[in-house]
Amino acid sequence: MLIPGQIPNTEPMIRVGIVLPEDKLQSIQISFSDPQCFEIDTGDRLHPACKNNDQSTVNIEDGKIILSDVNITASSIKIIPSIPHDNPFITLKGVTAGRGFHWEKQITASFWGSLEFSIYEDNLMVVNELPLEQYISCVATSEMSPQCPPEFLKAQTIVARSWLLANIEQKHRHLGFDICNDDCCQRYQGIAHCTPASIQSAEATFGQVIMFDDQICDARYSKSCGGITENYEHVWDGDPVPYLVSIMDVNENGIPFCSPEIVPEDTLKSYIGDVDEKGQYYRWTYEVNQAELIHSLKEKRNLSAVKILDLNPTQTGTSGRIIDLLIEYEDEPGDNHVTEIHSEYEIRNIMSHAFLYSSAFTVEKTDDGNFLLHGKGWGHGVGMCQIGALGMAFSKCVAEKILCHYYPNTELRTLYRPLSLK
Ligand SMILES: [Zn+2]
Ligand SMILES: [Zn+2]
Repeated sequence: MLIPGQIPNTEPMIRVGIVLPEDKLQSIQISFSDPQCFEIDTGDRLHPACKNNDQSTVNIEDGKIILSDVNITASSIKIIPSIPHDNPFITLKGVTAGRGFHWEKQITASFWGSLEFSIYEDNLMVVNELPLEQYISCVATSEMSPQCPPEFLKAQTIVARSWLLANIEQKHRHLGFDICNDDCCQRYQGIAHCTPASIQSAEATFGQVIMFDDQICDARYSKSCGGITENYEHVWDGDPVPYLVSIMDVNENGIPFCSPEIVPEDTLKSYIGDVDEKGQYYRWTYEVNQAELIHSLKEKRNLSAVKILDLNPTQTGTSGRIIDLLIEYEDEPGDNHVTEIHSEYEIRNIMSHAFLYSSAFTVEKTDDGNFLLHGKGWGHGVGMCQIGALGMAFSKCVAEKILCHYYPNTELRTLYRPLSLK
């Protein structure tokens, strides 16, 4: 596992939780790209993997892990590639994606590196251990098209690596892995999203991170700042972070890098995935109607409103993101109440069932009692603005310049190099 505060000087291995105890699985199907390339470690000795069969099932039975077909029973097992340079992979059927969200589903995913199967509170837990750079090539730019300028892909890759190695959040440390496979940490679906562009970008920036004051930076990023980025402490609890401070995201002529003048909205979809057809990320309007907001207050706050009277922002961050919003409403007996929504995340959650683009908006009441939100930006706005970074790359800026712009006073450093180059 990564050690908090420790800066690696060789490529570390990373542990990613693939099946979590909360998934409540008792069994999972596995298959091998080539069973000859794997061995099974039961703690006391190594066994050959299913020699004559490339499929098997891992079950829990009587508090032990059982690997069918090869008659292995142990308290935990680790399937290890015995010929790692051929990049063999193991496929799992029934991995949870979108954990806890309404789009949660089971997928089939293939993994490089080793897979460790153990039992945690009577449920199956699977951890994928692999070299960090292989992981990075599977996630850093997986949502982006190879048409993106290489300097943008490099900046994005360095940001993803820095965030990972800074290792600030450590949500799953008690379970013995660094990060999970889902949006809770970073979406990782094995090798499915590893593309020629993501491999090239990982190789071109191998071991590179941004640093501030001899610490690896907790490099946050979001889709679009809207023209000004936001301070860390306006979005998350905690002290200000010296390199996560608000900056004007503009070029020498004062034109925002993330504006349609530099990145036309109708072309955005061809660069960055997860963008809707309209691509209105820079300036947008969203109508919240009475029924939607009443339903949202009931569902998310258990408040029984019958009419929303007003929306009053009382505190905004530097980028204009609202961080404190008062909602005035009337209840069934006709009494007026005010509820406070604190944090940009909660505001976006309450204002739209689909999670509002950002909390940087002004409110206009319509004649029929609804609310028109005139907004800008997409996401929390702290650190790198991805669309702005794309705009900078279109404006011939190199990755290092892009990173210095969004993370002021940081420096780019190479922590380790490929073994073959040593
Ligand atoms: Zn997580
Ligand atoms: Zn921006």
